[in-house]
Amino acid sequence: MDLNIRGRKALVTGADSGIGLATARLLLAEGATVIMTDRDPDALVHAVEQVPDVDNRPYAFAADVTDAADIARLAQQVEDAVGDLDILINVAGIHGAGGLFHEISQDGWDHTIDVDLMGPVRVTRAFLPGLRRGGWGRIVFVSSEDAVQPYDDELPYCAAKAGLLSLAKGLSRTYASEGLLVNTVSPAFIESPMTDEMMSQRAESLGATFDEAIASFLQEERPFMELGRRGQPDEVANVIAFLCSDAASFVNGSNYRVDSGSVATI
Ligand code: NAD
Repeated sequence: MDLNIRGRKALVTGADSGIGLATARLLLAEGATVIMTDRDPDALVHAVEQVPDVDNRPYAFAADVTDAADIARLAQQVEDAVGDLDILINVAGIHGAGGLFHEISQDGWDHTIDVDLMGPVRVTRAFLPGLRRGGWGRIVFVSSEDAVQPYDDELPYCAAKAGLLSLAKGLSRTYASEGLLVNTVSPAFIESPMTDEMMSQRAESLGATFDEAIASFLQEERPFMELGRRGQPDEVANVIAFLCSDAASFVNGSNYRVDSGSVATI
């Protein structure tokens, strides 16, 4: 299927690893002009070096999504480099504060919401004027299975990701008539630095190997992931790229689950 996004200008946050990096690579392979952004400049340079040799090399500008000044600078850098965006993909996120509700500090709540919900809000506010000017646009938010199936030991993350579903749905109503389509993708248990860290901690607390931690997590915590494995970042990037394409011209306000069945409800 031809995604027909050659020459479209796309910003990907959280682009130095995992789902963000896979998405940037896929859009580049499809001929898009890609701007990669993430928090750590050195990690971003390393990520750009991992991008296969394509003619359209990505731009890379570091920014922290919790820092309004960083986002303003990023918006200026993007404007100077490519002008208005056509595509915005909000991937940056953290697992955030863990534990039961009564165990999580106010700082834990504040930081998780600041990265996972307010980060995408800041980035979207900064780039929305340009996206609206184009008459054709796509915004994708990466939410999580946790948005609709909350786990009681990660409620700040669940609440932030649920907020993204509501935010995206609202935006999809406001801007569709201008040609700007807004959707979310909700993965579950994808192989990335985020779940590597979760599984390392689990292995340590169980006195198990890393692979045993994954197996027990799937069995005990994610019983409806019918494929019985972690997903790959590319498997999420494929769906994001589709939503950013002409092929998704009638898809708006939707939430695409990429979770091998993890969310138990229909
Ligand atoms: P990841 O850790 O590889 O990617 C997250 C990226 O966000 C990192 O590159 C990190 O540097 C960046 N980031 C974090 N805080 C930032 C900040 N303040 N400013 C700028 N960048 C920041 O993990 P991933 O699995 O690729 O996660 C990508 C997205 O997918 C996240 O939003 C995550 O919540 C979501 N998600 C992941 C899974 C999973 O199982 N891996 C499941 C559901 C949802």
